[in-house]
Amino acid sequence: MPQTTDFAITGGGIVGLATALDLQSRHPTARITLLEKESQPALHQTGRNSGVIHAGVYYAPGSLKARFCALGVQATRDFCAEHGIPTQTCGKLIVATDEAELTRMTTLESRARANGIPIERLSAEDARTLEPNISTTGALLSPSTGIVDFAAVAQKMAELFTRRGGDILLSTQVTGGNESTQSVTLNTTHGPLSAGKAVFCAGLHADRMARNFGADVQFRIIPFRGDYFAIKNQPDDLVQHLIYPVPDPERPFLGVHLTRKMNGGFTVGPSAVLAGAREGYGKFSLNPTDLASALSYPGFWKLLAKNAGSAIDELSASLVKSRYLKKVQKYCHRITLNDLAPYKSGVRAQAVAPDGKIIDDFLFVQTRHSLHVCNAPSPAATSAIPIGRYITDQLLASA
Ligand SMILES: Cc1cc2nc3c(=O)[nH]c(=O)nc-3n(C[C@H](O)[C@H](O)[C@H](O)COP(=O)(O)OP(=O)(O)OC[C@H]3O[C@@H](n4cnc5c(N)ncnc54)[C@H](O)[C@@H]3O)c2cc1C
Repeated sequence: MPQTTDFAITGGGIVGLATALDLQSRHPTARITLLEKESQPALHQTGRNSGVIHAGVYYAPGSLKARFCALGVQATRDFCAEHGIPTQTCGKLIVATDEAELTRMTTLESRARANGIPIERLSAEDARTLEPNISTTGALLSPSTGIVDFAAVAQKMAELFTRRGGDILLSTQVTGGNESTQSVTLNTTHGPLSAGKAVFCAGLHADRMARNFGADVQFRIIPFRGDYFAIKNQPDDLVQHLIYPVPDPERPFLGVHLTRKMNGGFTVGPSAVLAGAREGYGKFSLNPTDLASALSYPGFWKLLAKNAGSAIDELSASLVKSRYLKKVQKYCHRITLNDLAPYKSGVRAQAVAPDGKIIDDFLFVQTRHSLHVCNAPSPAATSAIPIGRYITDQLLASA
């Protein structure tokens, strides 16, 4: 355990690792130390997601999400091509199943065009020609959406960072610390570390890190578990594209989608229910501190009040498999209860404001010598490389 470093980065998910690599490329002689509490990188959100390289269809024009996602698609593909990580550009169909969804699809189409994302409107007939196993009244085709294993991307980033002289301290938890006029002291489970600058990419613990280091933040991370199922008993050509429902603007997440996996086969998911533990992946995982943190936060209750219907719907789908199946059968009747096999779940770190509003865009908060990544939900895996560049720019600008 070193006692001092030039730059300390907390969090070995894809955002922390992309930041570490970018800092290193701009400061090859600096000492850069990445601290990760687990025994290997990418065990949380980065290793438990849909694996979709999002094209950038959904995000508000002008938002950081729209900007970084558009840059991230190409940056991710270039990184993977350079380092031999397989990707597939299989394209995505966003499928409407009734008139109301067709209307909402028009808004989505305009948003994609405003973001400069290639998008094509398909009639029901054209969509069925592309995907005979899908029921739809009309669809949007996003040809540039693709898939990758983000954990493999993060592992490669970790390997490059250490090979180029960076330090990764695994099984080392940052427990607190403080910032002086000169530097930042990180208290860790292996002793203190003094850093010239610090970046915190702690995902599900972003709010705790920010508060521990004196950043003035009002939001709280609310953990939303997403359950997936693997699809068995179905042919390899069940669908050629990723199949997404038209998102409901009343709900914060994209809806249960049918996704091709890099190692073959398909999954459906993720659902969205309050997780009993920030890193609790089982239906009944419980961490009293985490649960109390959500339940004692007025913002959570305000969010729940606004979304009571969808919260009950998501909870019942999480508990009753046949309810979950209905979400999939809405657009793919071929999938039956027997086809849904258990698959690892993920927990999203979603920042919620005190008024109960989901903080939609990426959020970064800076203090004198630190930068906190406060909200980096989807598509932050796709966007990690430009996010890393942005963090480095901000950090060096404040030097
Ligand atoms: C179900 C689900 C589906 C998603 N699908 C997609 C998708 O298809 N495409 C996409 O682009 N994005 C997707 N996302 C979002 C994406 O996975 C995340 O935005 C991204 O992985 C965030 O990366 P991160 O590095 O910020 O967080 P994480 O991967 O969670 O990493 C944070 C790291 O910090 C470490 N840490 C935390 N606290 C401490 C501490 N005190 N000391 C030391 N280490 C600490 C943790 O152990 C962890 O390794 C999805 C997310 C989920 C959950």
